[in-house]
Amino acid sequence: MKIKAAFFDRDGTLIEDENYLDDINKIRIIPESLNICKVLQKKGYKLFVVSNQSGIARGFFDQEFVIKTHGYLKKLFLKKNVYFEKFYFCPHHPTRAIKKELLINCDCRKPKPGLLYKAAKDFNIDLKKSLMFGDKLSDIDAGIAAGCKSFYIQDFLNNKLDLKKEFYGK
Ligand SMILES: [Mg+2]
Ligand SMILES: [Zn+2]
Repeated sequence: MKIKAAFFDRDGTLIEDENYLDDINKIRIIPESLNICKVLQKKGYKLFVVSNQSGIARGFFDQEFVIKTHGYLKKLFLKKNVYFEKFYFCPHHPTRAIKKELLINCDCRKPKPGLLYKAAKDFNIDLKKSLMFGDKLSDIDAGIAAGCKSFYIQDFLNNKLDLKKEFYGK
């Protein structure tokens, strides 16, 4: 049987946007987002992160740093009883990459749905029953392109959307 997933953008959605986060000490979880994770986890959604990390392509930090950061984040959320199955990220940029191999018009940089497709394949996810949360149009477009119901996190942060109304009783 296929599983249902909730995909989360990382910067500006799960944690405060630090504009190319390059230091794990700067990580600050957004409390309302943590709460959304808890609610959806309870509803049987498996949680994933899908993140554009063009800071790698731009040479601001390396891939190892991002992997280390995600290991740290996974533990941090686990301490709050939230389990992320996997962190997917795109290291590319179509024009700003300083490394040749990362200078590509890839299929995984949001708004393209490549990261969500990859997760769907790896974990047998039913994308039509899945959700995407992000703070930018590119997140929403990636979610929609993959067939997920997609939400701006801001709509929950400023109470335009009600967590209970959207997800309780479903
Ligand atoms: Mg973001
Ligand atoms: Zn990519």
